[in-house]
Amino acid sequence: MENKRFLLNTNSKKFHDLKYSDGRCKISDMSDSYKISFDTYTEAAEYPDKESPLAKFCTICQKNKAKNKISPYFKD
Ligand SMILES: [Zn+2]
Repeated sequence: MENKRFLLNTNSKKFHDLKYSDGRCKISDMSDSYKISFDTYTEAAEYPDKESPLAKFCTICQKNKAKNKISPYFKD
């Protein structure tokens, strides 16, 4: 398993913050071939480059983050 906190889905063009993701993010349904992991938000948000990033931050993760609702599966 990956221990990096941010997971980008190249198919849906969203990236998730695993600290705040929940079941609606469908992380477990994601195919490995679509996954790219990053250590930081900035790396994920600027992949593959700052001018034309591939993915947007997942709105579910974003809302959970705003409420500080931490995923029960997240391990530091
Ligand atoms: Zn998410």
